[in-house]
Amino acid sequence: MLGAVLYGPRDVRFEERDIPRITKPTDAIIRISATCVCGSDLWPYRGINAIPQPTPMGHEYCGVVEEVGNAVTSVKPGQFVIGSFFASDNTCPNCQVGYQSSCQHAEFISTAQASVLRVPLADGTLVATPAVPSDDLIPSLLTLSDVMGTGWFAADAANVKPGATVVVVGDGAVGLLGVLSAKQMGAGRIIAMSRHPSRQKLAREFGATDIVTERGDEGVARINELTNGIGADSVLECVGTQESMMQAISTSRKGGYVSYVGVPHGVELNGEQLFFAHVHLHGGPAPVRRYLPQLIKFVWNREINPGKVFDLTLPLDHVAEGYRAMDERRAIKTLLRP
Ligand SMILES: [Zn+2]
Ligand SMILES: [Zn+2]
Repeated sequence: MLGAVLYGPRDVRFEERDIPRITKPTDAIIRISATCVCGSDLWPYRGINAIPQPTPMGHEYCGVVEEVGNAVTSVKPGQFVIGSFFASDNTCPNCQVGYQSSCQHAEFISTAQASVLRVPLADGTLVATPAVPSDDLIPSLLTLSDVMGTGWFAADAANVKPGATVVVVGDGAVGLLGVLSAKQMGAGRIIAMSRHPSRQKLAREFGATDIVTERGDEGVARINELTNGIGADSVLECVGTQESMMQAISTSRKGGYVSYVGVPHGVELNGEQLFFAHVHLHGGPAPVRRYLPQLIKFVWNREINPGKVFDLTLPLDHVAEGYRAMDERRAIKTLLRP
């Protein structure tokens, strides 16, 4: 079997790997229909996170079940399934309250940029679609494995309500799908912070009503102006830098909600500033599994089309170009088809 392996900074190779097999009775083996490159894959790709040895890549996936271990009861061979980037049992106390990404038995999926994948804890992790989907639905279904689920969590954790004023910080795939999620939840006004014309265009298609190109203090001042000095009801932080986090906290109204789903890199919060900000803060790795049944329904009924974030589709053996295009910001997100 062939799959993507990261050897070092900007060195992704497509090479022969062991074919995954059932190792525990709770495993499933799926044949990948589509996978993709994640913004978070760029951290090790750029050498910001160290790569001590050649590392298989990929955590977003959907495909057809080939084989299941003898303890698996909820999915069977032939079904089309989607799972989160964290495998979870869906039964422990953390899963039961909807935080499957903090499952006591969570396992990170890290070998999905390949033609075949082993999924641990298959009963808790995988959700089957009503039937094998038509080809045009596959990109949207794939987003539910991470980016769409994460954008939805960002909107949910920021308490987006019908009629609310929402600010989305970050115009990557997650930020753009945060816009789509806020729209689907009935937000009245959605302000997207973006300075890239192609991303602004997609943000508007997904439901953004205003675009703010300024950043940092200027960005905060602009939001302040747009909201008559009050700030937004809900702010979605989808980047993970000090600047974006402070921008998010500073643009919330008093009593407002700030969610944060960008993996933090060097973010430090000032206790006093936080104290006087008077905001609700809620974030972390998105419990994508919680939202899968509902989001599958939305995609299946063609109510939402999150697959539009893929502006580049390549055969899996061109995976290196998929990383390059995202690294150079020529692509928002690369879809890979084995
Ligand atoms: Zn991802
Ligand atoms: Zn659990």
